[in-house]
Amino acid sequence: SYRKGGYHAVRVGDSFNDGRYTAQRKLGWGQFSTVWLAYDKPNSQYVALKIQKSAPQFAQAAMHEIEVLSAIAKGDPTHSKCVAQLIDHFKHSGPNGQHLCMVLEFLGDSLLRLIRYNRHSRLDLNKVREICKCVLIGLDYLHRELKIIHTDLKPENILLISPIDPSKDPVKSGKSPILERPEGGSLNGGATMTIIEKKLKNRAKRAVARISSRRASMGGGVEILGQNPKPKRSLEGIDMRCKVVDFGNACWVDKPFMEEIQTRQYRAPEVILHAGYNTSADMWSFACTAFELATGEMLFAPKDGDGFSEDEDHLALMMELLGKMPKKMANGGAKSRDYFDRYGDLKRIKRLKYWSLDRLLVEKFEFSEKDAQEFADFLRPILDFAPEKRPTAQQCLKHPWLNQNLTP
Ligand code: ATP
Ligand code: MG
Ligand code: MG
Repeated sequence: SYRKGGYHAVRVGDSFNDGRYTAQRKLGWGQFSTVWLAYDKPNSQYVALKIQKSAPQFAQAAMHEIEVLSAIAKGDPTHSKCVAQLIDHFKHSGPNGQHLCMVLEFLGDSLLRLIRYNRHSRLDLNKVREICKCVLIGLDYLHRELKIIHTDLKPENILLISPIDPSKDPVKSGKSPILERPEGGSLNGGATMTIIEKKLKNRAKRAVARISSRRASMGGGVEILGQNPKPKRSLEGIDMRCKVVDFGNACWVDKPFMEEIQTRQYRAPEVILHAGYNTSADMWSFACTAFELATGEMLFAPKDGDGFSEDEDHLALMMELLGKMPKKMANGGAKSRDYFDRYGDLKRIKRLKYWSLDRLLVEKFEFSEKDAQEFADFLRPILDFAPEKRPTAQQCLKHPWLNQNLTP
């Protein structure tokens, strides 16, 4: 990927935008960009520098992301809406072409990291509550004030404000900001990237291999709970505030530009069926994310199988947990006929094993009856098959589950 049109190779100490920013270390990467911790000299602060690949389609995507991020920043001058703030943007020319760069406020680890750090076991419900509140404040702002659909809400795209493990804080562990290029500064180029990418890919393959049957993929395909010999890690005293990031796929409500949105496991039924979508599709992803935080496992981890597709398995898993899909909804999408007969039954998966959300929480995840009931009462309405019946982020914020504090 470090070739013409691809990523820009950065060395620690490289400077950007006429010397305003100095690269400190790599924070992460995605399909479109690499993201670096940088020091913003005039403002004496650390920032996240997102350097887009240079090919025209990536530049165009970055321009769209900048447009969305600018709207977000404009409506949130006090930085209180739980959405990442755009600080600056500019172009940077390098050997692989011209790269659009976005400067964002520097945030901590993603919720995906938090889930892994917590070894896919249950997270304290008070912490889940704090995170849910932040994400809902962010969604309420995007949906109600800006009319923006995020379209890719998932643990990876929600970042904590501070790091999980302060000793691994990229800012604090560095002695002082690197203001100039050090002699022979370490090259963080393509080689490192591909090794890490390969590792991640292999890990994903192994996780899939552990999914044994269709049934096993409800409430997580990765069977770690109960088999994990490692002790729990302490998350004592961690501030659970977070912000929503990655607006590369976000769109305006009246200008949806893609039929297929969202990452598989967080995808709403109307999206699978190509029945059109709205801000309520983000709410579905939110409920999947909240479940995953509370249990450590994905709510739906569909997999294709003998004679059925991943989509059909996904619909089956949803119905096993949420009941039969109303016929109007099942037959209402452009792809409905691929999966449903005219009675609203799946064509290829006939025997469904129904299991309610609160039973799943009690029986598989060992929630107390009370916790299970209260949490299910919060999540269940958001997982309504009918998008227009799902509560909005604003309505969810008023739910009693968010406004109580359980004693441990
Ligand atoms: P994707 O393929 O997910 O669309 P992308 O190229 O658009 O990726 P992002 O998801 O925005 O890139 O960022 C990639 C990674 O960089 C994130 O997963 C996160 O680890 C890190 N990151 C992004 N923004 C920040 C930030 N503001 N502060 C700290 N780290 C960040
Ligand atoms: Mg991302
Ligand atoms: Mg993106």
